[in-house]
Amino acid sequence: MSDPAILPTGGNRPLRRPDELVEAGLAPADRLAALERVAARYAIAITPAMADLVDPTDPDDPIARQFVPDEAELDHRPEELADPIGDHSHSPVKGIVHRYPDRVLLKPSHACPVYCRFCFRREMVGPGGEALTPAELAAAIGYIADHPEVWEVVITGGDPLMLSPRRLGELVRALSAVPHVAVIRFHSRVPVVDPGRIDAALVAALATDKAVWVAVHANHARELGDEQAAACRRLTQAGIPLIGQSVLLKGVNDDVATLSALLRRMVALRIKPYYLHHGDLAPGTQQFRTSIDEGQALVRALRGAVSGLCQPTYVLDIPGGHGKAPIGPDFLARDTAGHWLVTDFRGQSHRYPPPATEDKG
Ligand SMILES: *Cc1c(COP(=O)(O)O)cnc(C)c1O
Ligand code: SF4
Repeated sequence: MSDPAILPTGGNRPLRRPDELVEAGLAPADRLAALERVAARYAIAITPAMADLVDPTDPDDPIARQFVPDEAELDHRPEELADPIGDHSHSPVKGIVHRYPDRVLLKPSHACPVYCRFCFRREMVGPGGEALTPAELAAAIGYIADHPEVWEVVITGGDPLMLSPRRLGELVRALSAVPHVAVIRFHSRVPVVDPGRIDAALVAALATDKAVWVAVHANHARELGDEQAAACRRLTQAGIPLIGQSVLLKGVNDDVATLSALLRRMVALRIKPYYLHHGDLAPGTQQFRTSIDEGQALVRALRGAVSGLCQPTYVLDIPGGHGKAPIGPDFLARDTAGHWLVTDFRGQSHRYPPPATEDKG
């Protein structure tokens, strides 16, 4: 928090303390002590853009549920893991996770504009989490330069668009100078939770001859209002393609109507839905996790409900650091005779004929 380069834009201070949440009407006063216990363990931040969306009269408000802490977060389950997707086991140098041969994650900072209560990196993110020092960032970029198999750099964190335009520009230039890096992909919640931050200076900082993509994290259609639409437009008008990333969250978006509205709103804002993540086994997040069966049923229903453009890939980050696997429903099976059976969007099966057998006579 002491780093001025990662503070949000002036006059746009997020709520960070439980008493501020109570004062803003986002939590009842009788929950203050419980919220203080959560705050002692996990970072809190809600930007004005998100606080304004909360309907305080709705106890199940899907925006509040994502950002207002709850004592259930202190209830850690045996199956939950501090490092649920195994970042540490694949980190060759500080700030880099190299799991797949052709792409790396680069995490320049651990600060986020908001702290999502379901965060898969909740044990690593927060205002206290150190950003890479200039020397560490140079070493991380050096690692990328030394590995010609790295075709794509996925910049995440924390939230990389919390960096100042000056530092973002330096980072984009340094990566662009690496000949084998073709694609620079930012993963960010900023276009949604602090859309004013996507200003001309930030957009200019992302300009390079290499392909820059931005993955926008949103979980509910209400997060994508007019200001967010304008922020997305500033990015797409600069030639930056947008992809959408969402987490399947119980009580936030785990029904067909809510997911359909989210995915359609994304496509209408020129955001191509990319991944729908199954909830990771992060500590204290059980209240957000659906079962995989529930997730598959939802994704199956989306097939008929919304356009093909709106379809994300339902994925699970395999605990232990084995990477992501698509876990969507199967539309293809075999009957007892070994013939293909294909399921249509209504759930009806159709036989697909086997290839004509060659006459070996
Ligand atoms: C998720 C992830 C990526 C990016 O994976 P894509 O399937 O290309 O989006 C890259 N590296 C690591 C370590 C990851 O966890
Ligand atoms: S913005 Fe991303 S990294 Fe930050 S708290 Fe939310 S889910 Fe975690």
